[in-house]
Amino acid sequence: RIISPAVDSPEEARIDRAIRPHRLADYVGQPQVREQMEIFIGAARGRGEALDHVLIFGPPGLGKTTLAHIIAAELDVNLRHTSGPVLEKPGDLAALLTNLEPHDVLFVDEIHRLSPVVEEVLYPAMEDYQLDIMIGEGPAARSIKLDLPPFTLVGATTRAGLLTSPLRDRFGIVQRLEFYSIADLTRIVQRSAGILGVDMDPAGAEEVARRSRGTPRIANRLLRRVRDYAQVKAQGRVDAAVAQQAMELLNVDSHGFDIMDRKLLGALIEKFDGGPVGIDSLAAAIGEERGTLEDVIEPYLIQQGFMMRTARGRIATRHAYLHFGITPPESLTA
Ligand code: ADP
Repeated sequence: RIISPAVDSPEEARIDRAIRPHRLADYVGQPQVREQMEIFIGAARGRGEALDHVLIFGPPGLGKTTLAHIIAAELDVNLRHTSGPVLEKPGDLAALLTNLEPHDVLFVDEIHRLSPVVEEVLYPAMEDYQLDIMIGEGPAARSIKLDLPPFTLVGATTRAGLLTSPLRDRFGIVQRLEFYSIADLTRIVQRSAGILGVDMDPAGAEEVARRSRGTPRIANRLLRRVRDYAQVKAQGRVDAAVAQQAMELLNVDSHGFDIMDRKLLGALIEKFDGGPVGIDSLAAAIGEERGTLEDVIEPYLIQQGFMMRTARGRIATRHAYLHFGITPPESLTA
């Protein structure tokens, strides 16, 4: 899936490293997040303290990992990277925590997937920089307490609602990433094109940006495919027409919707008469997992006004009908 927001190949991971911004000044868009983080980081540095714990949430590919790395770079400290599902036992987390240097950043991706026993260890660590774990089993078991260096936990999750409230409450700073505007995505595409040495005019960059579902990772991925197309078909030069042709070949439409988006909206309109329909029925109808639908596919469709989430289920909007050239039902005509 071209618009899948997950990193999907070693080639992508390599290019990703080359184009990922390393400083707050290069982090495009998200003006509020940038402004706030600049102040909080500056203040923590000024006081010579660890930055308060930061929770970053937003759909995949919007820049959570990038922001975590930037926070560490701006604080001039190391970043240790792990993720919720990787930390199986309290000991796994303890090993990471006891290896931190003062003020380091511990980045936990998919933090909503921490097991409850591991989460328990995190509470005193976040609150008092204390490690409190049981060693041994049965009558010989005992609890040990260790002091940890002051550190910053940066947690990332696709939806804040997935976190338990005791965990959420322990973050002093909460940042929500929004889908990017076409102007911001155009800047991201131009910046990446510059780094990759792609010959692209501004209209070509905007054409890629427009079809990126508000998501930098998708913008960068489309850019690479457009580059391939231009290399073979247009002597390496990307303008609006070349970008459009490449996107057509990739089956990405003018809204950046791909097959899954169209399948979802199509099912909602045709199989469920526009809804309301429960998320599980919708997921079953298109043969996709509920989680993927909730985290990856629908947030952008909702943000763009093609569908709505209501107490009774998902419904298609007027916009969605018009996109497919279907006359909207009376109830939806403005
Ligand atoms: P997430 O962790 O939210 O899934 P990433 O941080 O991995 O997303 O971002 C995906 C890619 O998009 C990064 O490799 C980076 O190149 C690009 N990117 C993300 N946010 C920005 C931004 N604000 N400015 C420029 N590029 C960005």
